[in-house]
Amino acid sequence: MTAKIDKNKCCYCGGCTSVCPVGALQLKETYIECDATKCINCGACQKICPVGAIKVEK
Ligand code: SF4
Ligand code: SF4
Repeated sequence: MTAKIDKNKCCYCGGCTSVCPVGALQLKETYIECDATKCINCGACQKICPVGAIKVEK
């Protein structure tokens, strides 16, 4: 499972990285990285993103 982040929409607020319960999201220099082996598909990051940049996929 993974969270897909639209780089063109993301404003790097960091909200998704702090809300993820399993620490799957990491704020890199120019993008957000999702560790598909950690993601449990909870949808929290998608809900908190202020710009709708995240889509959680199975
Ligand atoms: S769906 Fe949940 S577990 Fe997966 S990256 Fe988003 S917040 Fe983390
Ligand atoms: S919550 Fe949305 S805008 Fe903020 S860092 Fe995550 S993907 Fe980017």
